[in-house]
Amino acid sequence: MTTSGIDVFLKSKGLKKTQIRKKMISYLKKSKSPVTALEIQKEVGANKSTVYREIDLLTLKGYINEFDFGDGVKRYEDSSREHHHHLICLNCRSITEFEVKDNFAKIEEKEIRSQKKFTVLKHKLEFFGKCKKCSKT
Ligand SMILES: [Zn+2]
Ligand SMILES: [Zn+2]
Repeated sequence: MTTSGIDVFLKSKGLKKTQIRKKMISYLKKSKSPVTALEIQKEVGANKSTVYREIDLLTLKGYINEFDFGDGVKRYEDSSREHHHHLICLNCRSITEFEVKDNFAKIEEKEIRSQKKFTVLKHKLEFFGKCKKCSKT
């Protein structure tokens, strides 16, 4: 997203264009995997409470998705990203993004709908294991 793109986004959500907000959004845009509040804080150079307040606001507005990979640290990602899954290394905690080529979401939804009469709107699927580097040792 370009700087003007961020402006348009903020305006559409009724949010003021503050420096910190713009910095946070551009950081989230360029991040290749979910980031922690601490990483955001380091990047934007604001204090912790400001960063948390902004995270809450952007989550509420649907701009960011929150993830909990079970290590007690919440991570955040730009919600407009292409649908993908995460491969989480239980050893070094690295996160690799993975896009499922087959549209298994469609099949899944159809089967869940026919068997359970449940309408799927979205799903979250994360894989836990050992990354390439950690598998070698
Ligand atoms: Zn991701
Ligand atoms: Zn690893």
